[in-house]
Amino acid sequence: MYENIKKQDPLLHEALILEDQRQKDQIRLIPSENYTSKAVLEASGSILTNKYSEGYPGKRYYEGQEHIDTIETLACQRACELFKVDHANVQPYSGSPANLAAYFALLEPGDTVMGLSLSEGGHLTHGYKLNFSAKFFNSVSYQVDPKTETIDYDQIKALALKHKPKLIIAGYTAYPRQIDFKIFREIADLVGAYLLADISHINALVISGDHPDPAPYADVITTTTHKALRGPRGGLIMCKKEHKKAIDKAIMPGLQGGPHNHITLAKAIAFQEALEPDFKSYANQIAKNAKALSLRLLEKDFALVTGGTDTHLMILNSQKSHKLGGKDFAKALYKAGLVCNYNTVPFDPNPPMNPSGIRIGTPAITTLGMQEQDMNFIAEIIDLVAKNPNNLELLEKTRLEVLDFMQGFQSFFAK
Ligand SMILES: *Cc1c(COP(=O)(O)O)cnc(C)c1O
Repeated sequence: MYENIKKQDPLLHEALILEDQRQKDQIRLIPSENYTSKAVLEASGSILTNKYSEGYPGKRYYEGQEHIDTIETLACQRACELFKVDHANVQPYSGSPANLAAYFALLEPGDTVMGLSLSEGGHLTHGYKLNFSAKFFNSVSYQVDPKTETIDYDQIKALALKHKPKLIIAGYTAYPRQIDFKIFREIADLVGAYLLADISHINALVISGDHPDPAPYADVITTTTHKALRGPRGGLIMCKKEHKKAIDKAIMPGLQGGPHNHITLAKAIAFQEALEPDFKSYANQIAKNAKALSLRLLEKDFALVTGGTDTHLMILNSQKSHKLGGKDFAKALYKAGLVCNYNTVPFDPNPPMNPSGIRIGTPAITTLGMQEQDMNFIAEIIDLVAKNPNNLELLEKTRLEVLDFMQGFQSFFAK
């Protein structure tokens, strides 16, 4: 594999091969990561990276676009079919630039935006103080209910009435419950705000119907094309007809130059994969696996933020259940062959670099073919590590068991 890199640059080749093996050996529980198909990988590495295509199909500034136009047009059509929207722009380089474009299209600098605070599960681009979204806009953060740890619609309504935001953002990075986009629409209408649904994390669940659909309610929808959707690393922005012009202008000439044509091809391929019936079963299974894993962990007295999950992810408050900080927990799990990220919990007394919990998600392991019964094994390991985070011998023994367990899921890579 990667024969040309091997010949030309052995040092980098070695790192690449080691990473390839790591991805096959460990249990990948980071909810934003996944395994794409071989076709998506092939497209991402294709010769389309050699072509410049500033503009949009039929309206470019460089010659030689006839095949690129075919590809980008198909990508847009498939995105519209997949998410049932009027218009799709497939050019955003990633999720963060897609959000920037939505702001650029709908707002003036200094306008007020309202999103969930970072420490409760919002994204950096939803108004975090060091991000463009708070530097160039007036950011007002809403928080979850301290008791239930779920979205507090009454608080959002009160804040909206007080601050009169021009944009309200629904859609999160580390939130385990479903979002009621209809209530968000009602609140937005009350104060004349636009509604942005950022479905980066829940894109696959929206497609399968395992999560409510924002399309009837949101003015603009943004998403990554990676994460549960299983496309290449990239962004996608969708909107109602009336915002089409503003969105397209915000991307180009507003924010970006030439689109990444190789990634556009990979997006088009991933969208077709997501239109196939077996994508629905995959997404259904993501939610079933998350539910099963959460129930196993609750039986073992783990503290789950909001008391569980009805999406693809869960947040374990390990400080509360095991007096174990999230960073120490994640590092111990890693030694045992389980990869996750540490994460803040609502109203976390500890800082983001050493927060009280970890975040666990099921998209990647579902892609490999794991089902509910496999969640028993994973829950056992998580429990064992939580009780013995400093027992290096035990962690190493566990890593070998995980390696053995993963041998049962290698057929995905051979396909
Ligand atoms: C991942 C994510 C993004 C950003 O995506 P990048 O591709 O990492 O820039 C934006 N919003 C939400 C809710 C996300 O989860």
